[in-house]
Amino acid sequence: MVERLIFKKGNDKFPGVSEWVIWNRGDILIPVIRCGGCNEVATLNTHTISDDGTVNPSVVCPYTKEGCNWHVWLKLEGWKNGS
Ligand SMILES: [Zn+2]
Repeated sequence: MVERLIFKKGNDKFPGVSEWVIWNRGDILIPVIRCGGCNEVATLNTHTISDDGTVNPSVVCPYTKEGCNWHVWLKLEGWKNGS
């Protein structure tokens, strides 16, 4: 069973624990989170995010650090097309 988590919008450049922020790369807005397993910052640029903030597909930690098997369904609270 994959856990479902809700992350809140952060106010700094880097997301805190259980937060998401947006990085603006030219015309491209990239949602960025912090892994709940290893605490590394990870982008969601290969995911799609619904208007209600639901992230698809589920999020797997992109880092291969030993011991981090973080895998969750994620919802970005306050998401409105990245604004
Ligand atoms: Zn991780």
